[in-house]
Amino acid sequence: NVRTRFAPSPTGYLHIGGARTALFCWAYARRHAGSFILRIEDTDVERSTPEAVQAILDGMAWLGLDADEGPFYQMQRMERYKAVIADMLAAGTAYYCYATTEELDRMREEQRAQGEKPRYDGRWRPEEGKVLPTPPEGAKPVVRFRNPPDGVVAWDDLVKGRIVIANKELDDLVIARADGTPTYNFCVVVDDLDMAITHVIRGDDHVNNTPRQINIMKALGAQVPLFAHLSMILGDDGTKLSKRHGAVSVMQYHEDGYLPDAVINYLARLGWSHGDDEIFSREQFVQWFDLDHITPSAAQFNTEKLNWLNGQYIRQSSDAALAADVANRLARRGIDPEGGPALESVIALYKDRVDNLNELADSAELFLLDVHVPAELLEQHLTERARAALLDLKSRLESVEWTRGALSEAIKQTMTELGMKMPQVAIPLRVAVLGVPQTPSIDAVLEVLGRERVLARLARYI
Ligand code: GLU
Repeated sequence: NVRTRFAPSPTGYLHIGGARTALFCWAYARRHAGSFILRIEDTDVERSTPEAVQAILDGMAWLGLDADEGPFYQMQRMERYKAVIADMLAAGTAYYCYATTEELDRMREEQRAQGEKPRYDGRWRPEEGKVLPTPPEGAKPVVRFRNPPDGVVAWDDLVKGRIVIANKELDDLVIARADGTPTYNFCVVVDDLDMAITHVIRGDDHVNNTPRQINIMKALGAQVPLFAHLSMILGDDGTKLSKRHGAVSVMQYHEDGYLPDAVINYLARLGWSHGDDEIFSREQFVQWFDLDHITPSAAQFNTEKLNWLNGQYIRQSSDAALAADVANRLARRGIDPEGGPALESVIALYKDRVDNLNELADSAELFLLDVHVPAELLEQHLTERARAALLDLKSRLESVEWTRGALSEAIKQTMTELGMKMPQVAIPLRVAVLGVPQTPSIDAVLEVLGRERVLARLARYI
């Protein structure tokens, strides 16, 4: 039974890299009818905040990455970690170390002076026949894991392939600080075991922690899970993805008018592929997803491609669903669509022409608000002749049947009457009613705007 987990540290918002990790963990669990667990790694009390926890939960909810278990909070599991440390001390797989910080600094300095890599020298590590120093009076010890002294620790990483580390490269890790609080790598191990995680899928910034974690798991007599370390995501310019590259917080994409399904589809293709398939649903992704097709090399973020994909998803969405979203965006701008042209009709006019939902909301604004037409546009387009055409057209529109066909016919009659060409009438008309020279088909625009609004807007210019 597959069990995966996403284990963010709540020190900031859910960023694109984290969301991709969460997506892969979620999809792998779904693919194998397993469980997806959310674990908040909040032991860094200095840097963890409730706002960041909320931002992570919001981001996951927005993306539709539902957890089967959790969220669990490491800060609520302290007693459990301490109990495991006590067990390890009793079993001799961990030991107290009384070396002071100053003493360890000196030790490292000496090692460096001799051209050695600084590492804990095992001065408090119990060995057969070794006499340990007497603990200094009143000193508070840390607890260290007794790492195997020789041999190797190895695993077949499901993305990176086999990784082998010599145990002598790893010194005896501190698993509890002098104040008794467990350290990061230790909590992760206890959690992954207690939560019976079968596949640890995470960013490859953790690949250096893995050999240590595996050794602790083995010392606890546990079955070691499988590991898949995902390579990082680079920005458009090939450097590590950061704020410089624009939005990195998942909720910023929401703000910026992206559909969650489009973001999911985009993230799915970041470092994973299924042939040449570019557009696929969440369900299809779950059916296809496997760890074999994750690329070990870094993935590059491509905003243009995301925008294109978002446009595709907008076209696929129903007008009603888009209208509901756009209504929220308008509300946040303080605009009430009530009493205006039906949002759905406006959206139907524009959904083929935009890449994001904010652009849809911008278009809706043109229909809902009294448009202010910039003076240069008026000067350029509403010439004497154009105004005469609009006057002629206005009288026709007062009584015409309000259908696209009849509206189109009325515009043609004005053209003929005044001996003008289509753009000579249509462009001033667009400027007069929507304040922009380019719009979807003008007869469709008039139809959606409605007679009253069209006549009122025309009246301002003639
Ligand atoms: N809390 C870690 C992070 O946010 C992830 C640890 C893990 O996945 O093992 O980077």
